[in-house]
Amino acid sequence: MRLERKKLYFKKSLSAARQVGVPCLPPGRSVILCVLCALWCGVFFAGCQKPLIKESRFLLGTTVQITIKGKEEAKAREAIGLAFKEIERIENLMSKYREGSEISILNREGAKRPVKVSEDTLRVIRESIRIGELTDGAFDITISPLMELWGFSEKEGHLPEEEALREALTLVNYGSISLNEEEGTIRFEKEGMEIDLGGAAKGYGVDRAVEVLRENGISQAIVNAGGDLYLLGKPSGDFWKVGLKHPRKQGEMLGIVKVQDEAVATSGDYENYFILQGKRVCHIIDPASGRPAQGTLSVTVIARESMRADALATALFVLGSEKGLKLASRLEGIEAIIVRDDERGEMAISMTEGLKDRVIILGGKS
Ligand code: ADP
Ligand code: MG
Repeated sequence: MRLERKKLYFKKSLSAARQVGVPCLPPGRSVILCVLCALWCGVFFAGCQKPLIKESRFLLGTTVQITIKGKEEAKAREAIGLAFKEIERIENLMSKYREGSEISILNREGAKRPVKVSEDTLRVIRESIRIGELTDGAFDITISPLMELWGFSEKEGHLPEEEALREALTLVNYGSISLNEEEGTIRFEKEGMEIDLGGAAKGYGVDRAVEVLRENGISQAIVNAGGDLYLLGKPSGDFWKVGLKHPRKQGEMLGIVKVQDEAVATSGDYENYFILQGKRVCHIIDPASGRPAQGTLSVTVIARESMRADALATALFVLGSEKGLKLASRLEGIEAIIVRDDERGEMAISMTEGLKDRVIILGGKS
């Protein structure tokens, strides 16, 4: 079953800023001040002498904001312009909603012939397959037929027929993607297979933008692609403080996490969902059942690369808190916070050991 595609990009609500980067306040200032600033100002640089240069654009299906702290405004604006150009290039390669993108060509022709793709696309697909292996298939970029079946590709949810669900499930298997490194080609082993990089390309775009900023001499910046963040450098020799959005209380923060030269990505069930027969149907599908993942409210992953954080947040959302935390603890350079509904329907927060002295929880049970 195939639904007509609308001209969307990476689908995402416009008001998606889930996390807010806030640099660490000087010693003695209270957390409350920090939180308020985060809520009021978006990005707040405490005691900052240098001006802030900030620009936003709608890219990768979300609002991307780049903020640079620096004295040379012309240089900063030029770097921001180049970073946005780079994100735009990634979107043109990887959005399945752009007819001419490499992913669209691959989705149309990948089962008929090996399709040559750019080094960027090859890299994202290669890394996505690796994350598929690491997560025992919880992350699977061949999820596309299921996204369409549940109506996420047309922004209108519907309950699929069991038969259609079973049929779509036979097309979901990252193991059926053949990647030829020498030729730089991708091929699908089954007719009807399609890939959707919505769980990884935003992170890759952020990584590329950060790389461009670095190459242009920028040492302190925040790139925020609708909740996929990278915090470049350290503000005033200290940490950045990133506010984590509360998954159930709009405008409130769940907590604050300290980071430095790291990526922070959140997958939540509260930004992109619809209600079907009284139940919340979120845009992250469990590839094992073909149904929207249940029980997890939000997952935040901290990693050295934004693509890895992005994809792992999606995967851990599927795996749930027990399996998800076990996996995150095993992975080098990965930390995670998982919020779920407990047995009594209350919100429970758990996190990896390495985060315990880097996170301040402001609301909910931990
Ligand atoms: P957001 O885009 O809201 O930041 P995520 O990063 O978690 O959220 O990505 C969700 C997107 O990932 C979906 O819109 C879809 O494109 C894709 N996706 C959904 N389920 C899976 C899955 N199990 N594995 C890989 N990608 C998925
Ligand atoms: Mg994500």
